[in-house]
Amino acid sequence: MIFWTSRSASRRPTLRWRWAAYRGLAAVCDYPLHLGITEAGGLIGGTVKSSVGLGMLLWDGIGDTIRVSLATDPVEEVRVGWEILKSLNLRQRGVNIIACPSCARQQFNVTETVGELEKRLAHVEVPMTVSIIGCVVNGPGEAMMTDIGLTGGGKGNHLVYMSGSADHKVSSGDIVEHIVELVEARAETLKAETHEHADAAQ
Ligand code: SF4
Repeated sequence: MIFWTSRSASRRPTLRWRWAAYRGLAAVCDYPLHLGITEAGGLIGGTVKSSVGLGMLLWDGIGDTIRVSLATDPVEEVRVGWEILKSLNLRQRGVNIIACPSCARQQFNVTETVGELEKRLAHVEVPMTVSIIGCVVNGPGEAMMTDIGLTGGGKGNHLVYMSGSADHKVSSGDIVEHIVELVEARAETLKAETHEHADAAQ
């Protein structure tokens, strides 16, 4: 049996009531609970409502299945659902891009680069972190904690980090192609390692 107390975002009771109802249910039974906010709204508003509503419960360890309902391309619903789970470290899949908001110090166009990379890397399913940071203020620190890092440098040359260590440079015009190649190659390596471990365990 699956309890489903999801309700339209437009009606009372509110998210807070729903949170209390789910907590009460979770306290008295161990049936699977389905979480979802139907008719949550468009991409931005619906994502925020779903993230807050589902996130509050998932953070408390409540919820066995989720559904994100947005008035947009259904592909976005799946993406948002995955992002909610990834942000809570409940599931990992695909490339997690860490990026700065950019400012006058950026040494390449951060927002355009990140937008392009999100599209070009959407097919990668292997979990991986990539930092795209516009300058040395935060670039090296973030790159040290990601699988692949890019930090904006001077004169159109930017530093690429591999597994936290400074490795080589890339010029502005080659950033997207180069990062895509690095991510795809790393994904293949990680996949091969996973298969090797699986074979060894058998
Ligand atoms: S990391 Fe550099 S470019 Fe990015 S927001 Fe901070 S100061 Fe600006």
